[in-house]
Amino acid sequence: MEECIFCKIIKEEIPSKTIYEDERVKVFLDINPNTNGDLLIIPKKHTENLFTIDNNTLNYILEIIKDKIYPILIKKLNATGLTISQNNGTGQEVKHFHIHITPRYEEDHLQFTSDKSILKNIDEIYNILTK
Ligand code: 5GP
Ligand code: ZN
Repeated sequence: MEECIFCKIIKEEIPSKTIYEDERVKVFLDINPNTNGDLLIIPKKHTENLFTIDNNTLNYILEIIKDKIYPILIKKLNATGLTISQNNGTGQEVKHFHIHITPRYEEDHLQFTSDKSILKNIDEIYNILTK
């Protein structure tokens, strides 16, 4: 039995603010939101990341985001856009596959900030990628 934090959320050993649930997935509010209504969708069957999840479940998750969740965000929160993001390995805090469902609003000022000064020159990157 997996004992990760999201498995505990599925088993309701840890409470979550769930907005959608069925036999395969759970959708709940992120405790550290980047915009109003920032959500996570997770498969109920534990799997670590994009490279371990089966494609059928992955497709199902995308369908739920598209057909069920985004319409709710438009209707209930007047979202005007949607950013989905998903971390694997470095940058992944919780090792149970999840997609961040981040509703977007005009002027929400959401930014992905990082220290750009440490980046390689873009021409160098292009050369590496094409040589
Ligand atoms: P990651 O960095 O792995 O892509 O994102 C993990 C996300 O899970 C973070 O946005 C974090 O705020 C969220 N998170 C971590 N622990 C909990 C929790 O116990 N409950 C909820 N609702 N979200 C959590
Ligand atoms: Zn898990």
